[in-house]
Amino acid sequence: MTVYGLYLDLPKFVDYRDKVVKHPIKSFPILSVSSKTVIAIHHSLTRIGLSGSNARGYSSYHVNTLGWPGIGYSYVIEPDGVIKFCNPINWRTYHVGNANNQAIGIVLTGDFRTDKVTEAQKSSLRLLVDRIKKDQKQVQTVKSHHEFPGYSWKACCVFNYKQILEAAIANPEPIKATNGGKYIIQEGDTFWGIAKGKDFEVVDLEHANPGVDPKGLKIGQIITLPSDVNKATSEEKQSVSYHGNSIQKYLESIGEEGSYDNRVRLADKYGIKDYKGNAEQNLQLLSIIRDGAKAPSTVVIKENNTINKGQAIIVPAGKLYAQGNATKPVKNEQLTAKVDSINTNWRNSVRLINENGVYVGFVQLTDLEYGSISATTNQSTLAVAREIAFGKHNWGNNPERAEKLRKAGYDPNEVQKNINQLLK
Ligand SMILES: [Zn+2]
Repeated sequence: MTVYGLYLDLPKFVDYRDKVVKHPIKSFPILSVSSKTVIAIHHSLTRIGLSGSNARGYSSYHVNTLGWPGIGYSYVIEPDGVIKFCNPINWRTYHVGNANNQAIGIVLTGDFRTDKVTEAQKSSLRLLVDRIKKDQKQVQTVKSHHEFPGYSWKACCVFNYKQILEAAIANPEPIKATNGGKYIIQEGDTFWGIAKGKDFEVVDLEHANPGVDPKGLKIGQIITLPSDVNKATSEEKQSVSYHGNSIQKYLESIGEEGSYDNRVRLADKYGIKDYKGNAEQNLQLLSIIRDGAKAPSTVVIKENNTINKGQAIIVPAGKLYAQGNATKPVKNEQLTAKVDSINTNWRNSVRLINENGVYVGFVQLTDLEYGSISATTNQSTLAVAREIAFGKHNWGNNPERAEKLRKAGYDPNEVQKNINQLLK
């Protein structure tokens, strides 16, 4: 079923239908979209910045105080320019009395007797009105609330909407990223780009957004910016300071030129022989830099079952993690994914991609039935002991823990000695 008016291609557009208060039983009548011929512009008459001066606040008032089925508007444009989609435009929501059959309601948050319409709101209003008109050709008129029959007494809206709509449509300013807050994905955004120049890193973004696929970002999608509580710990960061997809960019990120000579030097440093800059070598180099994989020759899978790059494996339910974070699974269902690289630095884990080569997460070898990477322990026995002593990363209890440790290449007795020291 078509959801009329859901324009996720617009910048700062958010599907907000699940976030607004709704009446448990009542619902708005659904009309043919062709009956909608006019846009009605409102203001909320609530001061910018006051609590409840937002889409959720209006919905609560409309439902809990007025007893309506839901919020009366289709769209709320907040001071930061975010367009919150609250009701499909063909619903007969309540905002202009007798004209509700024809009118699509847009409200701008603010008491514009004293507040000013923000530039972000102006830009979003222009884009939204333009988009509705293009999508629904029968909608060609825009009016303010008080221009509807029977409402000439009503001072809504008190800003000059005509002047706003006449101005040219410009590219909106992206929302400034602030720590701990929300950020709305703009066209061309990547985690790398968002983190650039900020006091957080890509890995922090991944930790703050465990369910988000950094390669599948969608315009309008809201992500959480890292705060002190949801950043990765420094221990978790050790091997994952770079998460981009380009060696040139990596070199630039560490203040080097992305030249061919520098790439050759880099490859040499990480044990890739005869670097020619081909795609396979670049991928290898990236997985070493980015995911902490060991150089190819040192990756050994022991026992009968082996894991190879490109192999499809079944990840048990609840065992898919973001790298360096084995406390909160990214996904709870079992899934099938392909091996992209082996990461011997993060507790012998496997970086996984889907059919299309898109990163999906990490699984620890000890959670698979295929076997484990042999011998080379990649963090100190003390570091593992610390993880266990402080309850990180689900090493579990003995005797299962000892078995896990052995599989991961540690001596359980040595680890236990260290744990005892730590817990003394
Ligand atoms: Zn109004």
